Order: sequence, then structure tokens, then C-alpha cells
Amino acid sequence: MKIVVKFGGSSLASAKQFKKVGDIIRADKNRRYVVPSAPGKRNDKDEKVTDLLYQCYDAASQGKSYKKILEKIRERYEEIINGLNLNLNLDHEFQVIEENFLAGIGRDYAASRGEYLNGILMAAYLGIEFIDAAEVVFFDENGNFLSEETNQELEERLAHTERAVIPGFYGSAKDGSIRTFSRGGSDITGSIVARAIHADLYENWTDVSGFLVADPRIVDDPEVIETITYKELRELSYMGASVLHEDAIFPVRKEGIPIHIRNTNRPQDKGTLIVENTCRKPKHIITGIAGKKGFCSMYIEKAMMNSEVGFGRKVLGVLEDQGISFEHMPSGIDTMTVFIHQTEFMAHEQQVIAGIHRAAAPDYIDLESDLALVAVVGRGMKGSRGTAARVFAALAHARINIKMIDQGSSESNIIVGVRNEDFEDAIRAIYDVFVTTEL
Ligand code: ASP
Repeated sequence: MKIVVKFGGSSLASAKQFKKVGDIIRADKNRRYVVPSAPGKRNDKDEKVTDLLYQCYDAASQGKSYKKILEKIRERYEEIINGLNLNLNLDHEFQVIEENFLAGIGRDYAASRGEYLNGILMAAYLGIEFIDAAEVVFFDENGNFLSEETNQELEERLAHTERAVIPGFYGSAKDGSIRTFSRGGSDITGSIVARAIHADLYENWTDVSGFLVADPRIVDDPEVIETITYKELRELSYMGASVLHEDAIFPVRKEGIPIHIRNTNRPQDKGTLIVENTCRKPKHIITGIAGKKGFCSMYIEKAMMNSEVGFGRKVLGVLEDQGISFEHMPSGIDTMTVFIHQTEFMAHEQQVIAGIHRAAAPDYIDLESDLALVAVVGRGMKGSRGTAARVFAALAHARINIKMIDQGSSESNIIVGVRNEDFEDAIRAIYDVFVTTEL
């Protein structure tokens, strides 16, 4: 069995955390490939090394004073090296980094050094090989990840390597320059490595015990989701639930490799297993609730709209021309409503209205702002009666007016639009009905 383990920044923020990680890796000999993040926060007031690197680089490349920040970064690594009694000297590494910063090498390079150095430390601590991600993870000149080239290279390289540390978050372009994924991108590296070695499991170790049914800032002590499908996760992450980088799903999905979210500080907890599909019945009908504020709706009315071929295309064409993506589009017989991100829309509001008048000659356009979308997601909803009724009843009892309803024929999610100010109450009401009272 082969397991890829990725550890997040807070799991590697200090020597104490490194020791927990070492214990976890040594507890199962199948944990053969390790993908570390950069040291994260040790407490709420602390700073992530990645943020310090960005600050340091910006100062150095603009001729401002940067030495103090560089020293702070160095101290973070020294604390780990000393706490683990490692025989490691980073003088040369820091000299190269400083020279490169002063030469204005680029922000991606700067940010990547957090993972790079942590990878060197981790490999020394575990006594296994270090593989620089720049040699095995590739990007094109525009910074887009080259999935197939990377997979081929990594597969060949790791076929002859029993155990290795591969730092997360970065790779290189053909010209040798360092490129990174977006923030939190070490999750993607872990997934890429898992795909390349045809892993049985990708364990993603973090500081929470898995995905929660709802946002803990809204619902008190929400339950942990035990098993979730890639599709459900995608829907919940898109709507704001964040534990794993959104793009981390794609590489493992190609191979059907499960991802297991685990808590470094509570390895005894079950965590959340993310799978392609499962016969395991979910504990509740719904798997999770998530949502986002900040939408507006554009209501368009035109007599005989239903029989006008191409009306929808004309309206959406105007949005496309203005570079605006739409989120939902419920429609009636002579009406359609388009839900759009408010900030995106406001920047082009009058052009959109004029454009629709010109392209589709509607009778009337109305706008409403400050709306939120709440998604109720769950594979258990398919074919089961009464889920929508319970969602609507919960909202009615909480005295929340529903502005929009959207359920696709996959039956795996119901999306409702409410006012921004009702957002939190809506999530609490739905959680109560499906989780608290269902126990
Ligand atoms: N260190 C990077 C960040 O802070 C990447 C990661 O941790 O996944 O975003």
C-alpha cells in the first residue's frame, strides 16, 4: 500500500509540531511520500512564513529595508532545527535567497522558499530523500500548471524512490523560473504526487478534524462529515466551505484515489474521507450546508418570452461581452432572473442594462441587490421525498423570505436565495432541521 501525506502550515509551524508529524509518519510504514507546506501560524497573532517571504521580497526588490524580516524567517527555521537537534546549516541557502531577492527574481520564487526550506528540514528529520519540486512539477510560461508533463516526470522519478519529501506549492517553468499555485496550493501538490505514484490514499493533515456540516462561525459546534463525494465537496467548497484547495480534487479524481482529511493535533479523530462514490449511507439526508453573500439579481420580463427562440442567449451574450459570469438563472414563462456577483455586476451595471435592451428588447428589467445564496448539498437527497419541503418549512419558521429556488435534476443540491441579512439565520434553521432534530 502507498500513502501520500501532505501536512499543512500549522502542522509544521514549530519543532513541537514537527515531532507530531514525525510520529504520524512513523506510525504507518505505507506513508512513503511526504508533501510539506511552509511553517504556518503557531498562534492567532503569529505570521505565516509565506506571508513573511512576500513582505521580505517586496521590500528587498524595492530597495527598502528587509533584513529584519529575513531574520524573522530564519529564526522560524532555526527554532525547528534546534528543537529537533538536526545537524543542518542553512547559511548557504539564506545567502542564495538574499541574493536572488535583491536581484528581483520574482514573487513566486520568494513565496516558494517557505516550502523548499521546510522540505529540506523534513527530509533531514525523517532521514529520507529530498526532491526539489522545481525538478518534477511544471508550469507553462503563463503560470498554468502542466498536468501531463508533470505526471510523466513524477511517475518516472518516484518509480525508483521508495520514500521522499517533495515540497508543496511550487514548480518551475521551461525557462527555469519558479512558479507557484495559488495560496494553499500545497494541497494540489499532494494530489499530483498521489496521482503519479498511483497511491491508495492521499492523507491531507491539517488542524481541523475534517469538513464540517456547516460553518462553525455560524453554527455552534457543527458535526464533522464522515464521508463526502468529490462532487459534493466541489459544491460545498465553491460555496465557501474551505479546508482543502478547490483544485486539489482534480488530479486524484483522475485515478479515483480517496483523500482523507486528518487532524495532526488529534490523530485519534476519524476525519473526513473524500471519495468518488460510495454506497455508505450518509448519516443525515444532507451532507453539508454552505453559502455566500454578495449577489444581486436581474429580473427580465418580456411578453411571449417563452416562444422567442434565442432570448436567453442574447441576454447571456451581453453578460459574456462584459466579462461577467452568472451563477443561477431560474426562469418563468415571460420572465427570467439572472443571479450575478454584485461587485462584478456593479462595475458594468449600465452597460449590461443598455446591452440587454439593445440585444433582446425586454419590456422591463428590475434589479435587486444584497442577496445571499445558500446551498444544501447531499447525495442522500436523490430520490428521497420531502427534502425541499423541510428546507422551505425551516426557513418559513425562521421567518425568512425565499427570493429564489434552484434545484437541478441531479437532485444533489438545493440552492435558495435569501437576503444577506437572513443568511446566518437561514443556515442555522436548515442545520437544526436536518441535523440537530434528526439525531
Ligand atoms: N504556504 C502556502 C500558503 O500559505 C501554500 C500552502 O500552505 O499550501 O498559501
